[in-house]
Amino acid sequence: MRPVKNIYCVGRNYVLHAKELKNQVPESPILFTKPTHALVKAEGQAIILPGDSGSVHYETELVIRIGRSYKKGKKADELIDGIAVGIDFTLRDVQNELKQKGYPWLSAKGFLNSAVLSRFVDFPGIEECKKISFALIKNGEQVQAGNIKDMIFDFQTIIDFTANRFGLGRNDIIYTGTPQGVGPISDGDNLSLVLGKEVIGRCKIKLS
Ligand code: ZN
Repeated sequence: MRPVKNIYCVGRNYVLHAKELKNQVPESPILFTKPTHALVKAEGQAIILPGDSGSVHYETELVIRIGRSYKKGKKADELIDGIAVGIDFTLRDVQNELKQKGYPWLSAKGFLNSAVLSRFVDFPGIEECKKISFALIKNGEQVQAGNIKDMIFDFQTIIDFTANRFGLGRNDIIYTGTPQGVGPISDGDNLSLVLGKEVIGRCKIKLS
């Protein structure tokens, strides 16, 4: 895997997910970041997550990788060079507490192993992307599925917004938001990350 430079994540980018957490549908993209130390590739191994901080939720997301430096007017189709399926692991109870206090989300979103990635596949273009769904299978059962057609802010909007405010370049990746159906994981869960009909990442959960 090419080294990842910055990890951006989009919050509340699917209407049904915003509603399931009783959040308002945003008027402009909500961005946050994770440290690169949070990254872990799902290659069939056990992934250790906190077992002492309340519920750990999976959020299954399509992840885009930027292949070249951003310039105004550049199309998302030219800038993206790879896609993966990722899990934005979230300490939901911690996040709810942070939200109430008005504190930053880092403790809920940026912990070790909170940014899971499948392998990257070549970006087929936005229109082709709309023909394939991404999904999470937990212990043999599909628990989440999404399609970028349902995103509130599309790739171009997310890219322009991110680049103009924070900068965007080669080897930055963006978790583009989770569809509805987020839920808790338990010790021993087996997870498979699916793109189209293909499993492109796997891991086993170890809570400790
Ligand atoms: Zn997320």
